[in-house]
Amino acid sequence: MTGRPIRATVDAAALRDNYARAKRVAGAARVFATVKANGYGHGLLRVVRALAGADGYALCELDDAIRLREAGVRQPLLLLEGWFSPAEVGLYAQHALMPVIHTAEQIAMLAGARLPRPLDVHVKLNSGMNRLGFAPDAYAGAVHTLLGHPLVASVTLMTHFASADEAEGIAAQMQVFERATQGLGLPRSLANSAALLRYPESHGEQVRPGIMLYGVSPFADRDAGSFGLVPAMRLESELIATQQLRAGDRVGYGGAFVAERPMRIGVVAGGYGDGYPRSAPTGSPVLVGGRRTRTVGRVSMDMLAVDLEGLPQAAPGTPVLLWGPGLPVEEVAAAAGTISYELLCAVAPRVPVFES
Ligand SMILES: *Cc1c(COP(=O)(O)O)cnc(C)c1O
Repeated sequence: MTGRPIRATVDAAALRDNYARAKRVAGAARVFATVKANGYGHGLLRVVRALAGADGYALCELDDAIRLREAGVRQPLLLLEGWFSPAEVGLYAQHALMPVIHTAEQIAMLAGARLPRPLDVHVKLNSGMNRLGFAPDAYAGAVHTLLGHPLVASVTLMTHFASADEAEGIAAQMQVFERATQGLGLPRSLANSAALLRYPESHGEQVRPGIMLYGVSPFADRDAGSFGLVPAMRLESELIATQQLRAGDRVGYGGAFVAERPMRIGVVAGGYGDGYPRSAPTGSPVLVGGRRTRTVGRVSMDMLAVDLEGLPQAAPGTPVLLWGPGLPVEEVAAAAGTISYELLCAVAPRVPVFES
């Protein structure tokens, strides 16, 4: 390998095993793999190829969905925000894509469309998250309008949970959903990873897990391994320098870390320009030569520093794991005051990605 030693490796077998885990939990429900944002940073085509037998895929990006069709993907493709303009409606029919319809404006965009075939649509209910979806009292009306529409072949009922990963759970939103959909008797798609893992009553006929497929726990109070999930991404680099510090010496921009006593630090080729969070403070976990230690000082664009206490052998070339098996991305995210989703999506284009 040439160039900077930072690299990401995506484990296709882990993706497959995690999907199989989701299938087992889902029982009879179809499992749409959520692959938005470039497969949560793992590479859209790479993830879709790894999950070749999946029941379907969910994403937000129309150009990516068309790219999947052009790559020969035949499974259902669900576009989670639906169309944004009338000009897109024809592309949905042409490529057999499934829109989520969540506004009256989107229904109006069907008027005047001439489609080669009618569409399978999801109709989204705002059950309390107040992000997307028809209000409960408008929902059945929207569903009936679409059921009766000549350009619509089928309707699936859909909503999304705001707190399935938290103590609050899904009960209040489930109640709103049950009331708004009473008597409709149509297939349902409700559950993200957290609801799939924790709330069987949300499984319905279709589920939409994302984060668990990448081997990451959606819960702060339970780790991925306890669900049998395996991290699918490893982000690693190497030490490219070491420095011997005296008491009082400072490290990095702003001199934010000050050595209290003599110590040795390592400099890692990896920084926020690679997607490692700048918000990770001194003390964030990192594995150097397979051993757990901590970051010191501010993360820069291309580098970060690590404490080499207890690592006398560490030298330029020593491997560094930023996250992956042995150091869950959840832990790094928690140290940086964010969530694993953001770190995975943020892996920068300049980081070469390999597959194992
Ligand atoms: C992202 C997303 C999901 C998947 O959520 P996870 O927490 O990653 O499982 C499911 N449904 C919708 C509407 C989403 O936006």
